[in-house]
Amino acid sequence: MQHILEPDVALPEWLSARGQPTWRARVIRRWLTGGRAESFDAMTDLPKGLRLDLTAAFRIWTTSIAKHTRAEDGTEKLLLELHDGQRIECVLLREQGPGADDAGARRTVCISSQVGCAMGCVFCASGLDGVVRNLTTGEIIEQLLRLQALLPAGERLSHIVVMGMGEPLANLDRLLPALSSAQDPDGLGISQRRITISTVGLPPAIDRLAAENPSYNLAVSIHAADDDLRTRLVPVNKSIGLVEVMAAADRYWEASGRRLTFEYVLLGRLNDQPEHAHALVQLLARRAILVNVIPYNRVAGLPYEEPTQADRERFLDILRAAGVNVHVRRRKGARIDAACGQLRRLAASNA
Ligand code: SF4
Repeated sequence: MQHILEPDVALPEWLSARGQPTWRARVIRRWLTGGRAESFDAMTDLPKGLRLDLTAAFRIWTTSIAKHTRAEDGTEKLLLELHDGQRIECVLLREQGPGADDAGARRTVCISSQVGCAMGCVFCASGLDGVVRNLTTGEIIEQLLRLQALLPAGERLSHIVVMGMGEPLANLDRLLPALSSAQDPDGLGISQRRITISTVGLPPAIDRLAAENPSYNLAVSIHAADDDLRTRLVPVNKSIGLVEVMAAADRYWEASGRRLTFEYVLLGRLNDQPEHAHALVQLLARRAILVNVIPYNRVAGLPYEEPTQADRERFLDILRAAGVNVHVRRRKGARIDAACGQLRRLAASNA
């Protein structure tokens, strides 16, 4: 049975082979990507016979919710079990709008692109066991739909960040069709400019994205400004090097004209000292960028520490004094283990 969310499902042709008008493909897609249809039978504006045929031919859901956690700040996290028993995580983050009402509120989802991750960042729970496999396009879309379904009727997802488990640029073939489906005005309708793809910095894949689709926001996880330290923290850096990562980021910026984001996980006494901040200022000099500083969340079983408040403030002060645009990512959902990979490992160790 085919997964209806996969891009190779030729729904108009399938409908026409059954004597159905092809416009019904749009109706079905609207039901699916609206995140509201639990089954084909719930698509009440389709003829009963067609609903039965669809049920016999396709599956809507290939995942099940293994765990659903909700933090006091409204962050919700799903641990999804895939058809082969593998598990992935995705998160819904709620941020209020600037006014007293909910106008301008963000409903951001953070989704996974792979089961596990091959990049091996030493501080990350997702990379501890290596990569198991790429997610399919349908599995990536299902995360969006599962999270959309957590919102009350009338509330829509507004932003996507591909920053969960996995290296997104290592699975571009399946990720890009999923992200283009998320833009469908009949479905989630999320504009490209509200979609951010994160990467440790794989130059050939960054160049491919720049050539094919430079309208996404690119977030490069940098974490250190010299090669020795970066290779210790992000081992894949050994075969790439910061010069190549920065050159590819610059080419993406030239193609997109969009401000680049650099992610910097601040690890206590490892990359949070003044010399690290000064080196980062030098590395990023003369670029239109934003640095997202993410104070580390402790991961059980890993020896890394959270930065002290004094070290964190000093690090930020040095960046700001040098005119670097800095944003400190609040640790939303910290109490539900919302850092990537943590819930999956916890569930595995509790299983
Ligand atoms: S931080 Fe991201 S890229 Fe690094 S191992 Fe974890 S999931 Fe992979």
